[in-house]
Amino acid sequence: MPTTLQQLAAHRELSALRAVLECPLKASALREGAAVDSGTGPAWLAFLCPAHSEELPGWPGVQTHADNGSMRCGTVLDYRSAEQLLQSHADLWLTPLTGVQPESFGGVWSEVLDQADRVLLDRAEREAGGEDSPLQSMLTMMGLACRSAAEDDLKQATVALGYCETIALSL
Ligand SMILES: [Zn+2]
Repeated sequence: MPTTLQQLAAHRELSALRAVLECPLKASALREGAAVDSGTGPAWLAFLCPAHSEELPGWPGVQTHADNGSMRCGTVLDYRSAEQLLQSHADLWLTPLTGVQPESFGGVWSEVLDQADRVLLDRAEREAGGEDSPLQSMLTMMGLACRSAAEDDLKQATVALGYCETIALSL
């Protein structure tokens, strides 16, 4: 019999693998996000340990299934489009971290990311935390995200932002 994960992920193309928590535990629950369009599969699947399955408000699910440790807690399989992923990154951490609102730039992601990059650069200059600080790592990946978006490669930009999302956990 196929597992819940196999059933939910069957015939679907994964667009991003995200790590949204720093938790060493294996998942015991699989939270299922709402479908992007009616009649399609869930927008995302989040793997959570017992404690985290009681929280993580940024990821409201429509259903939770039991999981037998198939992934680390905090792993998210995301099936959304690049534009939707960018919006998700903005909502969950980029706007709270930098104050940059995508609406202020008419949803032009290259400009949104450039502005966020400037805010982070200013912060890095103020903090001067050394070259191996998490903020410096994030700036490296933000630079890549900016270049990708400027070249209209939003998919590549989401990959870079996925790293930034995980780094943001330790800022
Ligand atoms: Zn956990």
